[in-house]
Amino acid sequence: MISESTAHVPFRLFSPPDVQAGAAVALGRNHASWFLVLARPEELCPSRPIFCLNFALPDDRSAFDARSAGGKHVFAVGGAMSDDIMDHLTALLDQEGCAPVNVVEVYPNNPFYLRALVEVLVPDRELMYACARCGKWETQLGPRFMRCGGCRRRCYCSTKVRSCVQLCS
Ligand SMILES: [Zn+2]
Repeated sequence: MISESTAHVPFRLFSPPDVQAGAAVALGRNHASWFLVLARPEELCPSRPIFCLNFALPDDRSAFDARSAGGKHVFAVGGAMSDDIMDHLTALLDQEGCAPVNVVEVYPNNPFYLRALVEVLVPDRELMYACARCGKWETQLGPRFMRCGGCRRRCYCSTKVRSCVQLCS
């Protein structure tokens, strides 16, 4: 038994300043990818991820555990949707008025459409996770998923999964 729950800490909700309370989103992780995901359950909104946020690069800046100098997760934003993604990310605020990310570096004329490197300000436990087996996202009303205590990376919606080894090795 090597799974542990992200416990009773809820994932952190963010809202654009000009939008009604029902449209809260969370910063989500599915394997090495980062997403902006609607917090409401599937029954209310079937298509929950709004954007895949990160841009894969052929170097360490897009690795699963890429970190900033300050030790925080970092990911690269780029590609055709990068203007939209940056507009969303920089407009979101939580209940205390804090943003989900901090822009570490911008790349104005990058030939590979790399736009910016951002640092994640949300603690790991307050991110929303997708189940590494079925892809379902955590919801605002449901229980937090169990995290594999071995790799400490993948989360599962079912407690029947005992370890990542049987699924992910
Ligand atoms: Zn699942």
